[in-house]
Amino acid sequence: MEGFTIMSRTDAENHKTQHIGWLRAAVLGANDGIVSTSSLIMGVAASSASRASILIAGAAGLVAGAMSMAAGEYVSVSSQADTERADMARERLELETDPEREISELTEIYVRRGLDAGLARQVALQLMEKDALEAHARDELGISELSNARPLQAAITSALSFVAGAGLPLLVAWLSPDRHLVLVVGITSLIFLVALGALAAYTGGAGIFRGVVRVTFWGVLAMAITAGVGMMFGAPA
Ligand SMILES: [Zn+2]
Repeated sequence: MEGFTIMSRTDAENHKTQHIGWLRAAVLGANDGIVSTSSLIMGVAASSASRASILIAGAAGLVAGAMSMAAGEYVSVSSQADTERADMARERLELETDPEREISELTEIYVRRGLDAGLARQVALQLMEKDALEAHARDELGISELSNARPLQAAITSALSFVAGAGLPLLVAWLSPDRHLVLVVGITSLIFLVALGALAAYTGGAGIFRGVVRVTFWGVLAMAITAGVGMMFGAPA
């Protein structure tokens, strides 16, 4: 009865969980930190604000962004953990109340993956003999030990990497000469983004060029729009 719907949902979950991990959280955090803080700095600077206002805005953006990343990641990972726990509890109950149906359920999954019926049933039986719940969690629900979510760890990773990313344009703004601040922050932030995109693509085993282009495109867009808004609303220089 639940075979098909569970499988399709499980495939989506499997796909998603592969990308969840500290590396993804760290890269996302650093990327967000660079893009949002450099955009903020450029927006405020383009409005002809004083250097002190620019740096205060950047620092406030750093703190606000880090907290927002931590909260967002905590909530998202916690709710994923809740879902996994509920799925496991339901599975445990099903295994106790209707083991025969659970065997055919798992058999059906292996048949769909390409085993013939006899072998599929044999595999299902042997795996369930070893650890029935584990076999169902992995192959039916797509929950592996690796995807066991740790909300606090994810929250801290996101916040720290956001701070690391946001600190770069802030430091550059602090060091750069007043007159060229927008240009210097813009160019260095792009360099940071390209380096981060390349690093992420390299560690993730994906194409470096595509990763860099993707990251750079969104970075340029964010900075250009924010700087434009700052110019529109700022006092004429
Ligand atoms: Zn099951």
